[in-house]
Amino acid sequence: MARLSNDFSWSVSRAALFRECERAYYYNYYGSWGGWEAEAPERTRLLYLLKNLKTLPMWAGSIVHETIGEALQRLARTGQAMSVEELQARARTRLRSGWLEAVSGEWRTRPKKTNLQELYYGNGRSLPREITDSTKERVNTCLAAFAESAVRREIEATPYLQWKPIDTLDTFSIDDLKVWCAIDFAYTDADGAVRVIDWKTGAEDRESLTTQLACYALYAAEKWFASLDRLRLCGVFLGDQARVSDYPVQPEMLVNTKDLILTSAEAMRARLDDVAANQASEERFPFCENERVCRRCNFRQACPYVNAATAAP
Ligand code: SF4
Repeated sequence: MARLSNDFSWSVSRAALFRECERAYYYNYYGSWGGWEAEAPERTRLLYLLKNLKTLPMWAGSIVHETIGEALQRLARTGQAMSVEELQARARTRLRSGWLEAVSGEWRTRPKKTNLQELYYGNGRSLPREITDSTKERVNTCLAAFAESAVRREIEATPYLQWKPIDTLDTFSIDDLKVWCAIDFAYTDADGAVRVIDWKTGAEDRESLTTQLACYALYAAEKWFASLDRLRLCGVFLGDQARVSDYPVQPEMLVNTKDLILTSAEAMRARLDDVAANQASEERFPFCENERVCRRCNFRQACPYVNAATAAP
């Protein structure tokens, strides 16, 4: 089988990590590369394992996304909607099996299995009851909000032929730069406008959501030939009773986002040893030296900036 090559690309999450800590960015996109192979050096395997850690809020968010994705797929296949009880029961199964994967340590041999940051850097077996309860509560609240939302009713009333592919990771290009994005859900509404939805389980951050939705607009224009004046972008805040926050598409939003992407990609490339080969050296990526960021960083076990002996599980 052909070996995977580590090609340079851009995404909203990649840019956010680069802004937060360049060393963590190096570990995530370069130091851990190939760490899935049994014969990889021990440090590369460790960085790959740490890269795959999930915090509880991230885990809860991914379970909500997967469960909604599953409900929409079933609706597309059979025309049957899932009740709130069924949505929550399916999420409970995911929570249970993910928790078992995390405490059993399956991730030691299969790093893609659920590995929770709070457990990994904790005692590996348990977390305070109020923390696990609030994670379950967050998942249940978000799914109940989805089930009762006007957005869901509108989706159900839209013929499947007007849906776009659900939650598929794909790329578009800006001046030869590959940009990754995964639109949660999109469809052509009754007025002929393309409606793009991003499910959110956390709080609204208008700046980062503007960039994310502008990327979706650029993607929709390139892949679906959507006309920008017929595009409606919104975030649906499931933790806030499925509140819909609209982001009107304006030319300056797209121009600013393209600029931001190209400037950010240039700053990332400036750290590389060899831009054409996308090769990097650890020491060229500085530590953020910000205790608040380090405290919730996946890589603290491997990072010389923090005390490895106390951070190791
Ligand atoms: S522990 Fe701190 S300095 Fe080290 S990679 Fe993480 S955020 Fe950066």
